[in-house]
Amino acid sequence: MKALQYVEIGQPPRIMEVEKPTPGPGEVLLKVTAAGACHSDEFIMSLPEDQYVYGLPLTLGHEGAGIVDEVGPGVTSVQVGDSVAVYGPWGCGVCPACARGEENYCHVAAERGIVPPGLGAPGAMAEYMLVDNQRHLVPLGDLDPVENVALTDAGLTPYHAIKPSLPALIPGSIAVVIGAGGLGHVGIQILRALSPATVVALDVADDKLELAKDVGAQHAFTSDESAIEKVRALNGGRGATVVFDFVGVEPTTALAAKMTHIDSEIVIVGVGAGTVPVGFFSLPWETQVRAPYWGSRSELFEVLDLARSGHIHVETERFSLDDAPTAYERMHAGTLRGRAVIVP
Ligand code: NAD
Ligand code: ZN
Repeated sequence: MKALQYVEIGQPPRIMEVEKPTPGPGEVLLKVTAAGACHSDEFIMSLPEDQYVYGLPLTLGHEGAGIVDEVGPGVTSVQVGDSVAVYGPWGCGVCPACARGEENYCHVAAERGIVPPGLGAPGAMAEYMLVDNQRHLVPLGDLDPVENVALTDAGLTPYHAIKPSLPALIPGSIAVVIGAGGLGHVGIQILRALSPATVVALDVADDKLELAKDVGAQHAFTSDESAIEKVRALNGGRGATVVFDFVGVEPTTALAAKMTHIDSEIVIVGVGAGTVPVGFFSLPWETQVRAPYWGSRSELFEVLDLARSGHIHVETERFSLDDAPTAYERMHAGTLRGRAVIVP
């Protein structure tokens, strides 16, 4: 079968011929219907050899959906023909975090070498994909796999980032979203669906500011120092209640720190080298800073229900598997609108 693989450090991913997997006990084989391309893929492919820990060759794709093609012995919760989405942050399934469905924070995944598909294990950018356990599948039902596959990360990650901040996002509050790309444009919709906060998007690209407004941001400003006063002007000089940084580089984390007020929250989701110093003299009092990772199994059900009820959708651009390398070229050039989805 064909698969998009990262084969050589520093080189673009390539279409390769690989063996079609066979499901062992407890495993499920999917015929892939859709696979999303995330900026994290570009991040890992930009790492130098001494920092790259994901194995080579690596079949990409940590956002996956498929039709159950074959089940291994012991699989009872899905049947051949079911349309499913893949929960990506695989854990051990039995530690205290996994027992809460928070496999993204599994206590033993690192020491046992349990890795997500597309980020260590073979991912979804292939004709078929092996899923290690039936609990990592969520029924899609009537949801279109191509339109919704990105919710497994570009929906789940902002949802998990936003949910703990909802008590702070009261009427009159301001939620700032930095980076209106794949994750950010879904984050904006989640904020609009779940809170009465005024949602302000910041980005460096004009077309992304347009996208942000199209999906519900009440304001969209260029992401630079001038945004600080523009955000403060919205509530009499006070500033942002919560800043969600979907870029996470030094200029954006610094911007986030400068637009908060007493009792604010800064949530760093983007995988960059940006930091926010915390101390009595560095941030307004009581400001909290978090850096969340992906989301829990139960939250993926909630995100799919938000899509089912029409509250959120993903702007998608489709690419064939053969054309998948182009999706990453477009991502690198910053010309994608929303999410690139590979349709094998
Ligand atoms: P994307 O490429 O789709 O979107 C990035 C957006 O940020 C674009 O709209 C771009 O114009 C904008 N941008 C770039 N530099 C900017 C700057 N200096 N100021 C403001 N905006 C800027 O990326 P994505 O797939 O949405 O991923 C976003 C980030 O989230 C990446 O760093 C990715 O690795 C990370 N990520 C983190 C998690 C997690 O669990 N924490 C999960 C998935 C992705
Ligand atoms: Zn991702």
